[in-house]
Amino acid sequence: MAERSQTAPEAGNDMGNDDAIGGNVSKYIVLPAGYCGQPKKGDLIFDACFESGNLGRVEQVSEFEYDLFIRPDTCNPRFRVWFNFTVENVKESQRVIFNIVNFSKTKSLYRDGMAPMVKSTSRPKWQRLPPKNVYYYRCPDHRKNYVMSFAFCFDREEDIYQFAYCYPYTYTRFQHYLDSLQKRNLDYFFREQLGQSVQQRQLDLLTITSPENLREGAEQKVVFITGRVHPGETPSSFVCQGIIDFLVSQHPIARVLREHLVFKIAPMLNPDGVYLGNYRCSLMGFDLNRHWLDPSPWAHPTLHGVKQLIVQMYNDPKTSLEFYIDIHAHSTMMNGFMYGNIFEDEERFQRQAIFPKLLCQNAEDFSYSSTSFNRDAVKAGTGRRFLGGLLDHTSYCYTLEVSFYSYIIGGTTAAVPYTEEAYMKLGRNVARTFLDYYRLNPLVEKVAIPMPRLRNEEVEAQRKKEKPPPSKHPFLRGPASNYPNGKGDKRRSVNHKDPSNPF
Ligand SMILES: [Zn+2]
Repeated sequence: MAERSQTAPEAGNDMGNDDAIGGNVSKYIVLPAGYCGQPKKGDLIFDACFESGNLGRVEQVSEFEYDLFIRPDTCNPRFRVWFNFTVENVKESQRVIFNIVNFSKTKSLYRDGMAPMVKSTSRPKWQRLPPKNVYYYRCPDHRKNYVMSFAFCFDREEDIYQFAYCYPYTYTRFQHYLDSLQKRNLDYFFREQLGQSVQQRQLDLLTITSPENLREGAEQKVVFITGRVHPGETPSSFVCQGIIDFLVSQHPIARVLREHLVFKIAPMLNPDGVYLGNYRCSLMGFDLNRHWLDPSPWAHPTLHGVKQLIVQMYNDPKTSLEFYIDIHAHSTMMNGFMYGNIFEDEERFQRQAIFPKLLCQNAEDFSYSSTSFNRDAVKAGTGRRFLGGLLDHTSYCYTLEVSFYSYIIGGTTAAVPYTEEAYMKLGRNVARTFLDYYRLNPLVEKVAIPMPRLRNEEVEAQRKKEKPPPSKHPFLRGPASNYPNGKGDKRRSVNHKDPSNPF
């Protein structure tokens, strides 16, 4: 049998016996073997038929243990990472082990302490399971595939529990967010529909700048930002929202940035994939971040729309497209970091390093040492590579990556798990860094009104992070000490840095 771990970690691998999975489970009731009456309390009901849901199949292994199969991306069986499903009809104190058995990747932050997210009806805020209840190991029962097992104890019979790979961020949430911004009638925030996806969802384009910069004939310095080309990379949306929230705020830095720059933001490049609960692909199974060279208006309409706009701006002598940043999430690295391009021109190459260096000074979770520059052939169809080749020497194109799991603050070794708020804070710091890059700091004092500095927020956020570990949470009453069940070798605490990983 083929050795699954030898496949490139992001490239996915063949489906094997998962080809029986056609869609998400829908209120799927697991009854004890041989029993065919009405379900009793404790006969678990699994569901993933909701927006961004993903669970393809459930198999009961024993009274306590269930094998769970991720539904592959639509029209592309090679990608199986994102999961998001509910469980109900539980009994109080019911203990279970869930095994996610068909990941398409082998390297994972599960070895470094990452854990699935959980919430329930009565506790609607997402939280991570305690890492001690999570095991990631090579399993002989599943053709030596890597399996992630977690132990869980249900504690409230009436609750519906939801489990996910990372904090979900749906298309509908995004639309509501933009609707609420639009209702504020800000004269420096504009929303337009740049195109539609294959399933007719909106491709939104935001413009944030002072109205003077949009006057006929005005020269524009443009920062172009995109997100969620890979739909399972939900942290991308939180970072992007952090950028937008900051740029539309009354913070003196935001006001100066709006006066000097035009921010064009397409926060969700793959709305169908997000809606469907895919990890990497569009409805039709395309990894859109490999089609920048020649996007088709019918197969990759959102990418086609964005590329057309960028090329049009590039050809407009009044417009200087200075930055392109595409936001992703990374499944094996810690921290935020960037990928940039390699240029023959040494001075251009050096100048390209300035923005990530400044960001590293502003954001404690951003790592310049993990930032790397490359021109791998496999990445030729990415936005960063394509636009790096198209645009002239005054433009900089980056991929901004942020870990699905955690960051390590300089001088320490402890991994701090990302929260939704911490992802948004990275976004605020990205926005703020343009002030340093363009040396606009002296202008801030001129417009400044007394406001708490960002630094204070950081101190506060840090204080929140230092709350006691979540060991008092009721979810923790699980049977961690009894597992994992002798199914394989558990390996933890291995730090896997893989800068070559595609994004
Ligand atoms: Zn990505």
